[in-house]
Amino acid sequence: MAEIPKTSKAAVIVEYGKSLQVREYPIPKIQPGGILVRNEIAGVCGTDVNMWRGAYASPGGQVLATIPGHEFVGRIVEMGQDLTHDSAGQPL
Ligand SMILES: [Zn+2]
Repeated sequence: MAEIPKTSKAAVIVEYGKSLQVREYPIPKIQPGGILVRNEIAGVCGTDVNMWRGAYASPGGQVLATIPGHEFVGRIVEMGQDLTHDSAGQPL
């Protein structure tokens, strides 16, 4: 298995309706029961586009800067302590 990098890049909404910024973030320490996934494919959902347009802006909503995206496929590269099953109850 490849070495886990210390940082990861993300496309970030810093201003509604403007170009996203690519920023680099540290990869957090995996907590018990958590997983670290290396993304391989990501989709852009209509929710992401609405988020970029500012449809969920504060007050009470989204605060910038934010990383859009919730549709992706990847591989688990690290599992936290005590993690034995996925969210569907299947053994890992
Ligand atoms: Zn979606």
